[in-house]
Amino acid sequence: MPDLHSAEIIAVGSELLTPHRVDTNSLFLTGRLNELGIVVHAKTVVGDDRADLATAVRGALSRADLVIATGGLGPTDDDLTRDVVAQVLGRTLAEDPQIVEGMVARFARRGVAMPAVNRKQAQVPQGAVVLPNSRGTAPGLLLETDGRFIVLLPGPPREMQPMFDEQVAPRLAAMTAGRQVRRRVIKITGRSESQVEEVAYPIYSRLTSPVGPVQTTILASPGQIELHLSASGSDVVAIDRTLADGVAQLSEALGSIVFSVDGRSLETVVGDLLHARSLHLAVAESCTGGLLLGRLTEVPGSSDWVVGGVVAYSNSVKVQTLGVGHDLLEAHGAVSEPVARAMAEGVRLLGADVGASITGIAGPGGGSPEKPVGTVVVAVAYRETVARTFLFPGDRETVRRHSTSAALDMIRRSLL
Ligand code: AMP
Ligand code: MG
Repeated sequence: MPDLHSAEIIAVGSELLTPHRVDTNSLFLTGRLNELGIVVHAKTVVGDDRADLATAVRGALSRADLVIATGGLGPTDDDLTRDVVAQVLGRTLAEDPQIVEGMVARFARRGVAMPAVNRKQAQVPQGAVVLPNSRGTAPGLLLETDGRFIVLLPGPPREMQPMFDEQVAPRLAAMTAGRQVRRRVIKITGRSESQVEEVAYPIYSRLTSPVGPVQTTILASPGQIELHLSASGSDVVAIDRTLADGVAQLSEALGSIVFSVDGRSLETVVGDLLHARSLHLAVAESCTGGLLLGRLTEVPGSSDWVVGGVVAYSNSVKVQTLGVGHDLLEAHGAVSEPVARAMAEGVRLLGADVGASITGIAGPGGGSPEKPVGTVVVAVAYRETVARTFLFPGDRETVRRHSTSAALDMIRRSLL
């Protein structure tokens, strides 16, 4: 019985090499393969070209135990996967009468005759297992060659996904000796990737599971860093214990910048804290124009703890709706701690226990030497009112995203 460890994915289709279509199949397949304890070492996107496709297939088969190709199984002239794989493996193709029958019946149900071009989809390389397609015409194919496996799946995700789950996954599961990849995610905010790395590296570089080193990846996005720990093996209990120990060590070293070790988002963590304390939140946003309220209300059940918000973009809204004093605006400017405090306190009039505010310069214009682009002030009014001035890097979108994460984190900290 083979034991599959490594896989490569080949996404076939010239449209995937344009800016108009993204290869999403490999994301789906990577997730599913990982759950089966199979690690994806590389993926290739290749156009509908015989020579390029043959090179990709040969290369992948020389490296991986399992190769999964999607796309290029259609009836048209540019669909070459079946043909090229047969050629690379030195197999002849023969028409499978059962596939022809199935396709004819499928077209008949729609009241049309099967177009002649579809016949090509019934060609099966010698020795292949046919994977029937309940949602389209192109069947999938599974081939074994020198103890390695190659699976060909249709390109459309709605055909590919059920075919993988129903027909490929059970076959693979029988070839992985009960192995699984287990994963834990530590989510961090308020630090840069390199600051996190500095603290985390000495710890995670030494983590080992019963089967070898624990894989650690750092994923950075504006306002958030994630540390992913994973290990694979068949002793799931021992691996989970190792990962839990790693999470505990890292959480202790990183301290309060860790906001979640159980998959929850920052907005969900904030919501859970508010809910547990029976508190209600309202937000006043200037430069983020409602993005903070958007993130908060993405959480299912947020109506239990969010009352609403005010987009106070202009000074007149800050004054008339939030009650910010003219004198504060004149003395300190709209992007200042006194104004942010007044906004956070003022928005509680919506009926909230906790008020939060964001005012800043998202750019690209509007900066000054004293308050450059990226200057953002966040305030939270709860038992006391706290304000902090940040200088965020990046373009307008990045500054706005950072701002909402900083506000969520300040709300979280004021509730701890
Ligand atoms: P094909 O099987 O090559 O005829 O692919 C048919 C359609 O499936 C394409 O036009 C795409 O819309 C979709 N498709 C193919 N490959 C992928 C992929 N890797 N990720 C997402 N969609 C895909
Ligand atoms: Mg195609």
